[in-house]
Amino acid sequence: MTARNLFLLPGDGIGPEAMGEVRKIIAYMNEAMNAGFVTDEGLVGGCAYDAHGAAISEADMQKALAADAVLFGAVGGPKWDSVPYEVRPEAGLLRLRKDLQLFANLRPAICYPALSAASSLKPELVEGLDILIIRELTGGVYFGEPKEIIDLGNGQKRGIDTQVYDTYEIERIAGVAFEMARTRQNRVCSMEKRNVMKSGVLWNQVVTETHKAKYSDVQLEHMLADAGGMQLVRQPKQFDVIVTDNLFGDMLSDVAAMLTGSLGMLPSASLGAPDGKTGKRKALYEPVHGSAPDIAGKGIANPIAMIASFAMCLRYSFNLVKEADDLEKAIANVLDKGIRTGDIMADGARQVGTVEMGDAILAEFKTLSA
Ligand code: NAD
Repeated sequence: MTARNLFLLPGDGIGPEAMGEVRKIIAYMNEAMNAGFVTDEGLVGGCAYDAHGAAISEADMQKALAADAVLFGAVGGPKWDSVPYEVRPEAGLLRLRKDLQLFANLRPAICYPALSAASSLKPELVEGLDILIIRELTGGVYFGEPKEIIDLGNGQKRGIDTQVYDTYEIERIAGVAFEMARTRQNRVCSMEKRNVMKSGVLWNQVVTETHKAKYSDVQLEHMLADAGGMQLVRQPKQFDVIVTDNLFGDMLSDVAAMLTGSLGMLPSASLGAPDGKTGKRKALYEPVHGSAPDIAGKGIANPIAMIASFAMCLRYSFNLVKEADDLEKAIANVLDKGIRTGDIMADGARQVGTVEMGDAILAEFKTLSA
């Protein structure tokens, strides 16, 4: 069997603690399922700065580029608050996103039934919620030029950001959304502001044309992004896959995240274009949370976001759909049993640390996959 190459970048703070729990799952899958994962490991963020004076070394960048998938923990912490701007810990993540050309950010919002009471919405609105927000990550108003503050000379200044999208950028993100929808409920809702923005008009046209040309089997709906925000908090379960631009995606994915409870639960994936020869996409999987310096080294971090990020990796980089389903089910079962880390603790539940939570999920995964 061909090797499945994983490059692990645990990073700083709770990153290595959470990654440790994924390592156990990888070892089990190699041993019991002959999964063929070959792992290598590097440094990113503050630890890379300490070792190499850079947020990621060139050698590790090469390994990330060569891998089938990168698993990323978290970076940063007060120790590196005053390092030069170009080598700050986050620069490692930004370099990875840029060099791997990761233009599609996937953020699932899944509400485990056992945690529905922790949501800010009524439990019946979020219980069993499973939506996927796909945000364009490398274009739009965060990168468009001109981007500047001009002195108007009359005591006034003018701040300018430019929202700009080309056809190919919309086509490729729409393609990701339609492909992902086919592995789920086969429904896509595209969000923009075509009523007030030219880039929204083009977005709507290109998504419609891409759908017609290649993905007409998928159900497509268009919604204005502000109405979409309202619907997300009114009736979130109506959505399957949402695709939107960089700015709207930034906000809508954070709104959706809060429907599901704690930061320690949220995985994400960033995908690039398919390779011309192999068809494989470059990919990086990471929890949404940061390095949590306040709890780092205490063994109490919730490893679920990191483990769920690995489940996304199984699904999207290796097409191991049954294994991904089992791992996600294992997380749900452990929560159903009332096992909780401190951040998701509830009355009557049993509080455990990082390792015990990882062990409980692995034990459940073993049972489901036996
Ligand atoms: P954070 O996500 O690290 O922590 C926010 C709060 O959530 C903290 O109270 C933390 O203890 C808690 N928390 C986060 N993840 C948890 C988990 N898995 N289990 C239990 N509790 C958890 O965000 P922050 O405090 O704003 O930032 C801390 C550092 O992380 C900063 O240096 C920041 O720059 C960096 N950061 C990195 C990333 C990344 O690597 N992708 C993302 C965000 C922040």
